[in-house]
Amino acid sequence: MFVDIAKIHLKAGDGGNGAVSFRREKYVSAGGPDGGDGGRGGDIVFVADDNLSTLADFRYKRKYFADNGEKGGASRCTGKSAKNLVISVPRGTLVKDAETGRLIADISLDEPVVIAKGGNGGWGNMHFSNATRQVPRFAKAGNPGEELDVTLELKLLADVGLIGFPNVGKSTLVSVVSEAKPKIANYHFTTLTPVLGVVRMGEGSSFVMADIPGLIEGAGEGIGLGHEFLRHVERCRLLLHVIDVSGSEGRDPIEDFNTINNELKVFSEELSERKQIIVGNKCDLTDDDKVAELKAYFEEKGYTFFPIMAPINEGTDELINFVASELAKLPEIKIYEPDPVPLVEIPRETNKRTFTLDVVDGVYIIDNAPWLLKILETVDPEDYESLQYFQRTLQQSGIIKALVDAGVQDGDLVSVYDMEFEFVP
Ligand code: GDP
Ligand code: MG
Repeated sequence: MFVDIAKIHLKAGDGGNGAVSFRREKYVSAGGPDGGDGGRGGDIVFVADDNLSTLADFRYKRKYFADNGEKGGASRCTGKSAKNLVISVPRGTLVKDAETGRLIADISLDEPVVIAKGGNGGWGNMHFSNATRQVPRFAKAGNPGEELDVTLELKLLADVGLIGFPNVGKSTLVSVVSEAKPKIANYHFTTLTPVLGVVRMGEGSSFVMADIPGLIEGAGEGIGLGHEFLRHVERCRLLLHVIDVSGSEGRDPIEDFNTINNELKVFSEELSERKQIIVGNKCDLTDDDKVAELKAYFEEKGYTFFPIMAPINEGTDELINFVASELAKLPEIKIYEPDPVPLVEIPRETNKRTFTLDVVDGVYIIDNAPWLLKILETVDPEDYESLQYFQRTLQQSGIIKALVDAGVQDGDLVSVYDMEFEFVP
């Protein structure tokens, strides 16, 4: 079965905790702090793999975890950072945030893309000594790795898409102009998996043709087979609309043509306006007058029409040369730009904004507040507005009140993940 949609869960690695440790030296009773930092958690990275053509693997394995960073050690030893987890997907896979539908990345190019970021390691206590605090008995916890559900959606990358009713000869055409060997049979819907064929034009020039399974009436509205395949022609730069000129199955080729175009329109207005070249196949099964009549009909409508007999390669060279010359005039295959990252929304209910407060050596440490971590990433300490916003968040979430209740004084250090600041009442 062809799988081109999947939903999976990703969890990047957590950063390792920083260490609390003190130097031990002979004859020295208490050495300085030397606890090292935690290592970085692994990222989850997606990469396009041309050996894959479906998302079937993701049917069976739905949860992906990158390793956590190791914790820091004594003697200023930084914990080992975790390896990234690399997930291979077919080229042309869109990665979307399952919750919001936001497009995170289009895995169509060669560069790997980080989808879930690993957390930074926490600082060891060696960072926290200063003139007044010589024995810091605390270190930072590592930051959690990003965790999210994503939907994967395969949208094939092809220059040319074949459309047309079942059995008109689309698979036969691909098989004779490329090295692809799709199933060919004299019954409907033999092509249940889109097949990509590379059409070589010599001298290193080539284009990719996609044989898309047959469309039937109502497909654009989601009825019957075909609608789920329409997305695979969305990126095509050009469409070859194949018709059976002989009407060998008792159908009218012009009616078929209109039906398919209506389906495209229902699915996507933009797609229905994509340039189409008409391929009149099975010319051997009808007489020349009928072919000439159809050619005139389509040319009158502004289309270019190519009569062919696919199985014996008759007329296919002319068709392929024309397609190549048309492609040279068209823009490259569309690669989708990621949607912008939305501003962080703070959960409304205060009960979601949990945190813990510990006082260690006179430092007020706020922890276990993953919601705050997201806000912290956006805080710019140089920017007054941004700091005001941060201050408000601390106020609204009850953190300020908790600090006051714990006895915080003007100038005391407050430590929130990567940020440390002096309390100002
Ligand atoms: P698809 O469903 O559009 O992919 O159609 P296929 O390529 O599977 O072809 C359907 C049937 O039509 C097969 O039995 C082919 O051998 C036959 N066929 C394809 N092209 C021609 C042609 O030009 N002439 C004749 N007589 N038969 C053809
Ligand atoms: Mg077919």
